[in-house]
Amino acid sequence: MTQTSARLLIVGPQGSGKGTQGVRIGDAYGVPVVSTGDVFRANITEGTELGRRVQQIVEAGNLVPDELTSEIVRDRLAEDDAARGFLLDGYPRNLGQVSHLDEFLTGRGEELDAVIELDVPRAESIERLSLRAQQQGRTDDTAEVIAKRLDIYENETAPILGVYRERGIVDRIDGVGSLDEITERIFAALEARGLARRAAA
Ligand code: AMP
Repeated sequence: MTQTSARLLIVGPQGSGKGTQGVRIGDAYGVPVVSTGDVFRANITEGTELGRRVQQIVEAGNLVPDELTSEIVRDRLAEDDAARGFLLDGYPRNLGQVSHLDEFLTGRGEELDAVIELDVPRAESIERLSLRAQQQGRTDDTAEVIAKRLDIYENETAPILGVYRERGIVDRIDGVGSLDEITERIFAALEARGLARRAAA
């Protein structure tokens, strides 16, 4: 049986390529990509009240408080285009946020179908992030902030995979290779779970 909805999460260290792969997956499955990092960056650039509240936290590479982040995600997932699925990128990022998401999805009679874990060694992540810093000039891509963000990933975010692994929904994907190779690995894993991509237009 193939399924016509897809509720997905992509998890990986900064620089693992999850942003790029996330967009490809969202496109292929016809679901919106919900990236909390993108939401925060857009608000900072636009100078909104939210942006002003989170700017220092984001620029220092720390986590925005769980309540605030979860509220943003809940509001976004309540929009019509997320009714038959979504791809979460960058949320949940710690065990507290996993509880918030569980509570929200359970309340809607939904659950995550699959969690894609992009596996990239720390040295490779650092190399890719340094390159991105040169190309995009992100203020949170300095060497010091990169190290902090990777530490937070290892200490706070990686443990969420244990919870999802127990539920049997994690697909660990080798994140080293060409973009297309990695996309194919992800599609193969999701297909094996009976998750159908939308027909090509
Ligand atoms: P990202 O682009 O996902 O690496 O996110 C950039 C920054 O946004 C992070 O370093 C955090 O400061 C903030 N951020 C993004 N997602 C979350 C989240 N789920 N919880 C807390 N802070 C977040």
